[in-house]
Amino acid sequence: MPSNQVKCPTCGQDDLVFHVRLIYMECLEKLKDSEGAKTPEVDRFLEASGNSGKPKGEVTKVLRDLVHQFEPPQGKPQLLKTISPDMVVVVFSALAVFLLYQIYLTQPEIFWYMGGFYALFIVGYIVFHKTILARYEKQKAMDTGSVEVIQKAIGKWMKASYCLRDDLIFGVRKNESVPLAEMTNHLIQSSLPGKE
Ligand SMILES: [Zn+2]
Repeated sequence: MPSNQVKCPTCGQDDLVFHVRLIYMECLEKLKDSEGAKTPEVDRFLEASGNSGKPKGEVTKVLRDLVHQFEPPQGKPQLLKTISPDMVVVVFSALAVFLLYQIYLTQPEIFWYMGGFYALFIVGYIVFHKTILARYEKQKAMDTGSVEVIQKAIGKWMKASYCLRDDLIFGVRKNESVPLAEMTNHLIQSSLPGKE
């Protein structure tokens, strides 16, 4: 018995329709415990795709592929957090003062030249401070925005269905279906601000 009543918009039937979220989660359970796990959705999927009678090793490979194909959208890890430009200038200035002092001690003839260069940089920074800060704020807003987009996309992934007959994902946006391979992109695209 199909565990859902959602009809595929392309073939109009529900016999080969599966919940994306269930396929993903049950595959993970079955990979952990191939005998004990209760995985009705995946068992139905394996049966329908002609994989249920295969040797354990082959089924494991199928399950691993399914996990990869049906996985939820993931945000890129943000290793480099956006650093305030003011912070950069403070650190740079501390370094510059130290370097200028070293230059003053060892090469006094270029001290004024280097000092002038540094002073020019500070003046430039003050003059363009507003523009630089505005760009930084925009970048910061985009970074936090992407987290929200991923969260939204995962919410849509929870509701997505898959038709094995047509190899299509649907239920993300009304009257729209896309090939399984384009699922992540479709989820992200439909979660961007203003794309509701
Ligand atoms: Zn279909």
